[in-house]
Amino acid sequence: MEPLDLLRAVGISLAVLGIYVLAVIIHELGHLIACLACGFEVDSIRVSSLKLTMSEPRRFTWHWKWSDLSSGAVGFCASGRSTSHTGIRYVLVVISGVAANAASVPLVASWADLRGVRAEFAGCFIALTLLVAFTNLMPFRYRDVTLDGFLLVVFLFAGKAKRNELIARLKLSPLLRDFHKAHNAGDKQRALHWLTQVINVCRLLPEFRTKPKLIPLLAKLENLQSNLELAIVTETPIAADLPTL
Ligand SMILES: [Zn+2]
Repeated sequence: MEPLDLLRAVGISLAVLGIYVLAVIIHELGHLIACLACGFEVDSIRVSSLKLTMSEPRRFTWHWKWSDLSSGAVGFCASGRSTSHTGIRYVLVVISGVAANAASVPLVASWADLRGVRAEFAGCFIALTLLVAFTNLMPFRYRDVTLDGFLLVVFLFAGKAKRNELIARLKLSPLLRDFHKAHNAGDKQRALHWLTQVINVCRLLPEFRTKPKLIPLLAKLENLQSNLELAIVTETPIAADLPTL
């Protein structure tokens, strides 16, 4: 192989990789925009190897992991502000990644010429976009990789209990945060309100009935709930120790 051919092959491979990552970016942007439009809180966004995690409100830290090169993800949870129709909003967020990929295809096709570099780019983009979209629609989960298709199948066909479990997972972290805030501020009524919701959500999650580490934690939360009720009735300060989830 001539050096020029080799250079060209490397250039084409990098261009294909770049176009693939562009399709992943469009997919994750679809999820991100839908999350914000549907009133969810975004914890993190990962496009390929780059992950941005929100450590505090409006402050991001970033991580780079080469093994994540071919995928992306948006981490989100239910916001305390929007509490209704969580299930429908969740489905909209899950399908929005593939919807963004689908919308990008006619846009790029109409922009491309019939011949030349633009047409080559468009052909490659459309092929890789379809690959990203169809891969994400597979009902597949392995370790910490969960594809959109798997979430959709669980949500639409696995019954009411599974649906409630998914929604409960979305709600747990903002409820815990609100409980901690009220508890630290010494607001017993609000702390009790949020803690009761945390306990209701934990009861919907199977790991709190099956995992040896989590079973005593639920009991501790219930104990804290009775202490809070007692502290409200007797007008005494609340106990300082909080179990961590
Ligand atoms: Zn997706």
